[in-house]
Amino acid sequence: MNIAVLSRNPQLYSTRRLIEAIKEKGHQGRVIDHLKCDLIMDEDGPSIFYKGEQLVDIDAIIPRIGASVTFYGTAVVRQFEMMHVFSAIDSLAITRSRDKLRSLQILSRAKIGMPKTAFTNYSKTENQVLHHIGDAPVVIKLLEGTQGLGVILADTNKAAKSVVEAFESLKTRVILQEFIKEAGGADIRAFIVNGEVVGAMKRQGKEGEFRSNLHRGGSAQVIKLSRTEKSTALKAAKCMGLAIAGVDMLQSKKGPMVLEVNSSPGLEGIEKATNIDIAGKIIEFIEQNALKKKLPKDKI
Ligand code: ADP
Ligand code: GLU
Repeated sequence: MNIAVLSRNPQLYSTRRLIEAIKEKGHQGRVIDHLKCDLIMDEDGPSIFYKGEQLVDIDAIIPRIGASVTFYGTAVVRQFEMMHVFSAIDSLAITRSRDKLRSLQILSRAKIGMPKTAFTNYSKTENQVLHHIGDAPVVIKLLEGTQGLGVILADTNKAAKSVVEAFESLKTRVILQEFIKEAGGADIRAFIVNGEVVGAMKRQGKEGEFRSNLHRGGSAQVIKLSRTEKSTALKAAKCMGLAIAGVDMLQSKKGPMVLEVNSSPGLEGIEKATNIDIAGKIIEFIEQNALKKKLPKDKI
């Protein structure tokens, strides 16, 4: 098979590992920078030109679309899908997972455990909104944030109100969320490939930090998930429409609570923590699905 990894940087750990796994399993692999793809639509059907070369013989793609280029990146993925090329990650599922609010709405509809969350447009009702989520301490999150930036812990209702007002004056949207204290500055990441948890790790924030992101100095350790944690992670990925996903959860008194479902989960942290060949599992998933799913899906 010809498998393309859509990535802007061939040197990134995840990109390198995917190319390595593609070759190990006897396929051809190449990196395509999605930002350098031109999409052509006419009555002959959709086509893609990459640095002037028409892409014609690709059997499957593995999108690694960064959050800052979601619009262009998903347009490229969708174009491949329209050309009947199998995408390991569905374009629609990437779009869904990149929108924090939309993701939480979908997870809530599926009745998946999550910290109680509020979204409001009216500053005058802040008191009521805070009351809904159980008063301070509360977590305030920028809708556009990633890697733990834009996640704020407000200790008192007064502080929470000031923060929300400040963001409001900047016309920046935020969500308010119940603070899960007992998570103790840690979260768990379940890595899912093809309806199975293939690896899991616990990330602990550095001393005095409630955010466990590795980008914020957190550290990772392999863990064994409980049955409920596993089923929650699988259900979360499924309702988002993701066959490959990194599901982030907090361990709470009420059981696992999903924070987010990542559609481009990094391989470095999880492979190093677990010693599992996750890139290889992604290629096996493609081997099982790429050739049989050549029918175009109804997308738009
Ligand atoms: P990002 O997408 O920027 O990583 P998250 O929502 O995952 O933002 O939050 C970053 C980290 O902050 C989480 O990994 C977790 O450790 C901590 N955190 C987030 N929300 C809560 C919460 N409601 N209660 C307790 N800790 C939280
Ligand atoms: N690929 C990174 C990860 O899976 C980015 C997502 C994030 O901001 O948490 O950890």
